[in-house]
Amino acid sequence: MRRESWVALILLCAPITGCFGTVDQVLPEDYGIPGGLTLACLSSAQFTSMVVEVDYSSSSTPEPSALQLLQSRLEDVCDKPGGVSIQTQVTTFEETGTWSDQEVRDIAHATRSASPLQDNVLRWHVLYPTGNYQDDSVLGVAVDASTVAIFQDTIEGAENFLGRPSAEDIEEAVLVHEIGHLLGLINIVYTSTHAHEDPDHPHHSNNDQSVMYWAVESTSVTNFITGAVPNDFDAEDRDDLIRLADGRLTASDQLWEP
Ligand SMILES: [Zn+2]
Repeated sequence: MRRESWVALILLCAPITGCFGTVDQVLPEDYGIPGGLTLACLSSAQFTSMVVEVDYSSSSTPEPSALQLLQSRLEDVCDKPGGVSIQTQVTTFEETGTWSDQEVRDIAHATRSASPLQDNVLRWHVLYPTGNYQDDSVLGVAVDASTVAIFQDTIEGAENFLGRPSAEDIEEAVLVHEIGHLLGLINIVYTSTHAHEDPDHPHHSNNDQSVMYWAVESTSVTNFITGAVPNDFDAEDRDDLIRLADGRLTASDQLWEP
């Protein structure tokens, strides 16, 4: 069954560049797919607190505002009575040029300080490496159930000459967007009751006011979004999460279930 669902995901993702990248091989069982730890975040039945480990290279320091926003969004949508904390550490990565999906996975798994599910702590992992993704129009990727990478060099290049939106604004949105994929958005591990998935950009919102809008993670963000870059989930994104949490929507491919 797992292999079959992977085949389906590979087909679904084929038209997407970025985000999930090109899924070219089956992941190790225990790291799952983006959305595979959605219920672990939405429920406090076992994982009562959450840590987001942020490993960054010294030339790609995350903006404090982006980390604060991420913490606030997660506290908002997930059920973590023990809180959500962000742990940052400077890291030397083996790769400093062009990153493939598999390198993001392998290097992330080698650098993370603890496993995603340990005792009562859910741990997600964000890399801020030097260099760029294999598709250099991509600002961030979600590669498995607990791992995302943010390409800050590419984000800085996406800022337009006016600096509106600024690289900082874009980084805030991209970080929340990729974490949104770890929450299963949109329709990665469930089927929404709302028609809010963009048919031309699978697993993305058709609302340009949602942080899950496809262009948020693209270097063309400033061509498609004028004014403020959305950095929050919209009402339908949030309703999907509420229905997943209370069981009205069924989540597939979960590494943990309440
Ligand atoms: Zn995306």
